[in-house]
Amino acid sequence: MKDVRKTILYAAKIVPVRMIVYFLLTLPTLVLPVFMLKVQKDLVDLVSDSSEDKIKSAVILVFILLGLYLVNKVFDMFSKDFMEFGYFRCINLHMQREIHKKMEGISLENYENVELFQLLERGQNGAMYVVFTASILNLIVQAVVLVLMVSAYLCSIYPILFIFIIFVAFPVLIEKILVAKKKAVLLQTNSQFQREMQYYKKILSDTDSEKELKVQGAGHYFYRLWKESREKQSGNEKKIEKDCFRISCGYHLIQGISHGIAFIIILVLLIYKKISIGEFSVLLSSFAFITANLSSIMSFMGEIAQAGELSKSYFDLLELEIEDGTEDIAKEDCEICFQHVSYTYPGREKEAVSDISFTLKKQESLAIVGVNGSGKSTLVKLMTGLLKPKEGICIWGKGKKRDTLKERSMLEHISAAFQIFGKYKLSVRENLIISSPEKREEDKIEEALKWADLDLKKEMVLGREFGGEELSGGQWQRIALARCYYRDREIVFVDEPTSAIDPLEELNIYQKLLELTKDKTVVVVTHRLGVAKNADKILVLEDGKLVETGTFEELQKMNGVFAKMWEEQAKWYRREG
Ligand code: ADP
Ligand code: MG
Repeated sequence: MKDVRKTILYAAKIVPVRMIVYFLLTLPTLVLPVFMLKVQKDLVDLVSDSSEDKIKSAVILVFILLGLYLVNKVFDMFSKDFMEFGYFRCINLHMQREIHKKMEGISLENYENVELFQLLERGQNGAMYVVFTASILNLIVQAVVLVLMVSAYLCSIYPILFIFIIFVAFPVLIEKILVAKKKAVLLQTNSQFQREMQYYKKILSDTDSEKELKVQGAGHYFYRLWKESREKQSGNEKKIEKDCFRISCGYHLIQGISHGIAFIIILVLLIYKKISIGEFSVLLSSFAFITANLSSIMSFMGEIAQAGELSKSYFDLLELEIEDGTEDIAKEDCEICFQHVSYTYPGREKEAVSDISFTLKKQESLAIVGVNGSGKSTLVKLMTGLLKPKEGICIWGKGKKRDTLKERSMLEHISAAFQIFGKYKLSVRENLIISSPEKREEDKIEEALKWADLDLKKEMVLGREFGGEELSGGQWQRIALARCYYRDREIVFVDEPTSAIDPLEELNIYQKLLELTKDKTVVVVTHRLGVAKNADKILVLEDGKLVETGTFEELQKMNGVFAKMWEEQAKWYRREG
């Protein structure tokens, strides 16, 4: 119940005025039912006493009853509408904004952390339960007030009936708690299967893996995995459904018996003329009314505790502490110095990069070369601040240490195209402007497309998902490069988004990149050495270590790792002359 209180207070704090408006709107629906019962009683009594001069009063009573019914319905509709669109939607928007803020603050490294990933997922679900908890509480409060009002009226007729009503509703509590417990277990075990199924389904419908799946026949394999998860899930469901069914059967038996007893009592009261026929009719309808409302209260009580508990994940996510520095980066700080930097990925033993020292000056161009797996991408992620070094120091500008810097502020000055990049199923224009949505420069979009050698219309929608055109791998890579170009920041990182582009073409693109960004600091990553020729400085990585540093000429003269690699690759560029 502590979770419930926290959830409700949270919701109330976000939209206090709307909450009050909502309760005011529901007020009439709490009072009118009692008046309706009273009018109903008078009407039935009047009609059962069949003298002709009472017809006129009866007609008036019918109209009053109808009027009350209509007013009640109108307020009911208004309050429900307001609850959904004016009240809950606001809470939801607020929570989504909070989650988004949190996710932005989570470092890349933490995304590798399975626990955190699950916390994110549960937090998203938790937000849904915050609204759910608030809505159930509203319903409980309404039902309680309604039952109290009607019971009070009922007791004024014959108090003893109230005991029976409670007796009838009591089994519901037992049923709901037992069923809710079973369902909670089901939910927990099924979420694992659900995740598996989602993943398999994604692979099966993914356009990127579709060809591979077809050729290698792996589609069947994934389909089988999906089916297995599905079967495990439905096996679980069936078992729990069976238990729930048994509990429900027992409950209906008990409820049936007590309903019967209560009915016999009011029938006896009527026969012995202790109550009028009008009171009998009111008792009959209020009996059903109170039973239904009490049942909902009980079942809501079972659900609210559970919903409150599930919404806790949302608060866990909000309370997640995000380590971030406080210092901002300015334009003139856009140079980077590494001193003995090492990094090991979580859960790995071997260092991905070890003991790396170098300096990248402002407006300098740097090429990082090395074979696959030598640590190039890791080094780039460390330079961009996406990863924090485990050992050593990264310094930006004149002595600003990475640990003290705001991640957002560092990223503000960076533009990047990575090896793995987004293929957004949006228009070409949107694919570029998302990198810098605050500016909207049509000329710049065209310039970027031209620079990346893309002959595409800006309005063209990409990807088959929304009926657009599918691009080739190389074209998608050019889109990523154009996006990076459009963003136009002080430091540009390009980490091999070019694997599907022909080596000579790649050389061409990188050369243009170095030329066009003379006033910027540029870092290019490549395992194709021709690209590195025009860089001011080259870092050669081998197995996570920095083995050689220098200009292209210096490295060739060294006759070491770089010279050997160059010899092997030179044939790719011979055509160039
Ligand atoms: P490169 O870009 O030169 O191909 P990477 O920097 O991607 O090299 O990888 C360097 C080493 O770090 C490799 O051994 C790789 O397996 C490992 N590595 C890369 N990314 C991750 C990751 N997210 N989690 C664990 N290990 C990783
Ligand atoms: Mg890489």
